[in-house]
Amino acid sequence: MDELLAIGEFSAQSGLSAKVLRSYAAAGLLVPAAVDPWSGYRYYAPSQLPEARLILLLRQAEVPLSEIAAFLQDPGPDQLRRWGRDLDLEVAGRRRALDEARAQLSLLAMTADSPPGRNGGTPMTTVTSGSATDRGKVRPTNQDALLVSPPLFAVADGLGEVPRGEVASQLALDTLRARFTAPPSVEALAEAAREAARAVWQRADAEPSLEGMGTTLTAVAVLDGLERTRLAVVNVGDSRAYLFRDGQLSQLTRDHSVVQGLIDAGELPQEQWRTHPKRALLTRALGVTPVVDPDISLPALAGSTRVLVCTDGLTAQADDTQLAAVLSAVADPGQAAAELVQLADRNGGNDNIAVIVIDITPDQPAP
Ligand code: MN
Repeated sequence: MDELLAIGEFSAQSGLSAKVLRSYAAAGLLVPAAVDPWSGYRYYAPSQLPEARLILLLRQAEVPLSEIAAFLQDPGPDQLRRWGRDLDLEVAGRRRALDEARAQLSLLAMTADSPPGRNGGTPMTTVTSGSATDRGKVRPTNQDALLVSPPLFAVADGLGEVPRGEVASQLALDTLRARFTAPPSVEALAEAAREAARAVWQRADAEPSLEGMGTTLTAVAVLDGLERTRLAVVNVGDSRAYLFRDGQLSQLTRDHSVVQGLIDAGELPQEQWRTHPKRALLTRALGVTPVVDPDISLPALAGSTRVLVCTDGLTAQADDTQLAAVLSAVADPGQAAAELVQLADRNGGNDNIAVIVIDITPDQPAP
């Protein structure tokens, strides 16, 4: 008995608890060398320590006890290699599932045209919209363009002498629409915007008469997910998107303009942006360089929300208070867009105007 180890001592030396040792013994592993018939105490031989260590390691590798028992009948390195290969396959399978889960996650940003009744009838949203555009009181043509293709909405303000500006703004929106792939997502929107920029640049580069054309682009996509509705917003230039809730306008985009740079640098008070002589100078536009990165944001929406997307022909001609007054007073989005265009014209109409008003309303849950 002297050279045998009591279960407590063997446990301390092997790293296996007494409870684990009892469960192993029940499975035919590490059977005690002796049991005191009087006290029931279990004793282990020191020579069992290497096997205990081996079992501990295999358990850490999550090998089932039954396989360990079989292995110990005829231990050899081949079985360890087989377990290693199985583990590689399992890890690869789990990794693949995680990758597919990542792709599946973007499907949560599906639009309202996804099959109804998913997730037990999660509330979705109803999207209604209206738009209006006008050349204004001064410009000979309208180089602003707009796109209403739910869940995608966009405006573009063409730059350059006739006909270049209108070619650029329409090409940008046509490309945006064609390249905005399903399922709708912020990545899809950003990529479509980059494709639009590439298209405008290539066309300007290929046709001498169109050299120097460019355009702004501000686009929003309503992403109707299982949990919540989000708005994907991309912007290049000084067209803008706003949220309008509870009578308050909040700007979702940041102008890429010289004046915005002066404001950011603290050299120009925010409220003076409309009257600055360099107001029209942009620091980023589609068509100027082959690759253009849009600003991207993904604001979450809660409750009913009105979204305004417009060119500077509106925002330079009317202040936030005037815009908010129309958005508050006029319920129909098409009529609101038309009245905003009229407002810009009444205030001078110095530029082309394009306006989209989008109302996003949560559906009532199914009863
Ligand atoms: Mn403009």
